[in-house]
Amino acid sequence: MTAVTVTRVETFLVAPRWLFVRIETSDGVVGWGEASLEGHSDAVRTVVDQFAEYLVGSDPARIEDTWQVLTKSGFYRGGAVFASAVSGVDQALWDIRGKSLGVPVHELLGGAVRDRIRVYGWIGGDEPNDVAAAAAAQIEAGLTAVKMNASGKMGRIGSISEIDGVLERVSAVREVLGADRDVAVDFHGRFTLANARRIAPLLEPLRPFFIEEPVVPENSHLIGQLVQGTSVPIATGERLYNRQEFLPVLQAGIAVAQPDLAHAGGISEVRRIAALADTFDVQLAPHCPLGPLALAACLQVGFGTPNYLIQEQSIGIHYNRGAEVLDYVLDAAPLDFASGSIERLTGPGLGIEIDEAAVRAADARGSSWRSPIWRHADGSLAEW
Ligand SMILES: [Mg+2]
Repeated sequence: MTAVTVTRVETFLVAPRWLFVRIETSDGVVGWGEASLEGHSDAVRTVVDQFAEYLVGSDPARIEDTWQVLTKSGFYRGGAVFASAVSGVDQALWDIRGKSLGVPVHELLGGAVRDRIRVYGWIGGDEPNDVAAAAAAQIEAGLTAVKMNASGKMGRIGSISEIDGVLERVSAVREVLGADRDVAVDFHGRFTLANARRIAPLLEPLRPFFIEEPVVPENSHLIGQLVQGTSVPIATGERLYNRQEFLPVLQAGIAVAQPDLAHAGGISEVRRIAALADTFDVQLAPHCPLGPLALAACLQVGFGTPNYLIQEQSIGIHYNRGAEVLDYVLDAAPLDFASGSIERLTGPGLGIEIDEAAVRAADARGSSWRSPIWRHADGSLAEW
């Protein structure tokens, strides 16, 4: 029997802002992964193209060894671009392994530990007026949890009206949701530690599910001060790229870890982050305002991981201009969340079927999404 090898690696940069990786093997199995890095997917694509020099001819079943080679052998390592490239390849190799064996990936991670995963949807929040209606629409779609931005641009020491604006927005959503549904509040790294410390206790009566990214990731050393200053569970992690970067925030007392399957080393590394988080009694809620492959990869980890709280998904998110999550799958049924949860994926590999013709056509059209640049009233750069 001749050894199976990788024969082809392709990337597809598609609207709204996603990068898909397609890997084909000598026995004709095709695996898909997602290496989207919002606003920087062109850079990730170049890294994946370079990885292909190693991947073509390699054994697709040696997922961990490939992860080690791609993450460590280039001497320079770390950061969002490299880790996202590794993530897309890692997901595709897991997809190939599952398809080769005829089982979903979570079966290879030890089997299912749950039957369904609760999901939440985004409702905006940059503009104050639309969140209540957006929350009502998500309830109508079946969701029992939503996430919103706390504010738009925020002063370094927020004014009374800026702070009241945050409280009014979250109050309006709480009113729509009632006591049986949840709202998570994303500070989006827009707040200084001073703002976060002032606002978090004021939100306590509204009982948010969690507060997300209260400070920018490079200031992770400050997050413990916020944990100590409020009873609201603190979440972070969409801009942390490996288990080593999660360790300090876990030690500081966060309650929810939010690795992104397309940024934090894929299924292989997020499984390790989950195990590390478990030793701190921390739950996973992976970041995923991304496409169908990143979502499926999240769900595969979730079905095989005990300390899993909830899953973000971006079906209907306001960023998805020009294309939707479901535009790239042949069958939307596996990702249905009308009950507020997604049922266990039973298809082989990642458990979804990609519409390859739609992906190739979208890549031909291209995508050039970039993060907006915000400025304060004095002209200086504001965190988006
Ligand atoms: Mg966020």
